[in-house]
Amino acid sequence: MNKIFEDTQTAFALKSDTELDRAYFLFKMIQSEPLVRIGTAITNFALKAHMPVEHLIRASVFDHFCGGITEEDCLPTIANMFTKNVHAILDYSVEGKEEESQFNLALEKTLQNIDFAQEKLSIPFAVFKPTGFGRLSLYQKITEKKALTDEEQEEWDTVVQRFNTVCKAAHDKDVPLLIDAEESWMQGAADDLTEEMMVLYNHKKAIVFNTLQMYRHDRLDYLKALHKRASENGFYVGLKLVRGAYMEKERERAEEKGYPSPICDNKQATDINFDAGITYMMEYEKLALFAGTHNEESTHKLMELAIEKGISKNDKRLWFGQLYGMSDHISYNLAAQGYNVAKYLPYGPVRDVMPYLIRRAEENTSVSGQTSRELSLLKTERKRRKL
Ligand SMILES: Cc1cc2nc3c(=O)[nH]c(=O)nc-3n(C[C@H](O)[C@H](O)[C@H](O)COP(=O)(O)OP(=O)(O)OC[C@H]3O[C@@H](n4cnc5c(N)ncnc54)[C@H](O)[C@@H]3O)c2cc1C
Repeated sequence: MNKIFEDTQTAFALKSDTELDRAYFLFKMIQSEPLVRIGTAITNFALKAHMPVEHLIRASVFDHFCGGITEEDCLPTIANMFTKNVHAILDYSVEGKEEESQFNLALEKTLQNIDFAQEKLSIPFAVFKPTGFGRLSLYQKITEKKALTDEEQEEWDTVVQRFNTVCKAAHDKDVPLLIDAEESWMQGAADDLTEEMMVLYNHKKAIVFNTLQMYRHDRLDYLKALHKRASENGFYVGLKLVRGAYMEKERERAEEKGYPSPICDNKQATDINFDAGITYMMEYEKLALFAGTHNEESTHKLMELAIEKGISKNDKRLWFGQLYGMSDHISYNLAAQGYNVAKYLPYGPVRDVMPYLIRRAEENTSVSGQTSRELSLLKTERKRRKL
């Protein structure tokens, strides 16, 4: 492990002994794949059957990975994190809802979060998910270049309006806005729409940020082509670079439907692609980078690149991002050194945040290296505190 990330006292300074113990036992449970599979099935069943399990979920996995049910619930956590110079990004994490009323609610939440970010230094960005604003199958139809019915066209116009409303608000209030990336079969439509927003609102700096999942082998070419279009048309590019969270789903679908998988052949290829992406972005002044990663090597590489390019630690064109409840050793140690660091802070009603929580549990099970690293860091800190 890189030396700067080994300081567990700094990493866990905000955690009480009880919270440290809870985190330790939580990651121990998550490490077991059968336990996660069975736990997920039981929880889903219990929630569907309206059994009173919300309390249990809150006391365990929810409170570890989420800030609360409402924005207000999150404020004490945000203030606490900011005492250590770690910023927060309020992430309304309700997923898989496909009614217009839910899309309008997500729109309202995003606008509210832009206001929060404008008011508070501790909140540097707002964020939303494309499928929070419209049906996945509608994005998919456009991505596949299929003709829309009149009704669907009307529905899509409303999605475009939602994008425009939040991007304009972000621009007017000078709050950078991250747009998450999702499944490859809907992403084309989201990419095109996001680029339209960049053309409209990124004249003077990067306000609208798209996300590139570097586990896709086509993303480096996409990055270069986007940069070329931006240079020709005079707009700034903001990008969150991540590895990607839907690998199993992507591979399964490609196999089932018989097309080549869009995902890199192996982890090493994804790592090379991710590092090539951050290296490319650090070359150009008009590219702003939010590196969403828990990978120590990539983080370290980015720190070195910044030094090499003479980019100061607090230059607002470079942010390091992690998820709340994960990789505090990276977030808090980077922040202690003066880098720009922000953690996604998910929130929402317990049952509606379940898809997000299940993804975290599964990710920590499948990325076994990550879980054992969290465990070993927590163990070191418990030992240091003589717990
Ligand atoms: C702030 C933040 C925002 C995020 N936003 C998004 C988002 O908008 N969309 C999204 O999809 N994800 C998002 N993620 C999740 C992210 O994509 C990764 O799933 C997660 O961060 C793990 O990758 P890593 O770089 O942290 O670390 P690592 O542990 O080094 O990498 C794990 C990742 O490598 C890739 N990988 C693993 N095994 C293989 C293999 N055999 N072949 C090819 N690739 C492999 C997968 O992408 C896997 O998630 C976000 C993460 C953060 C921290």
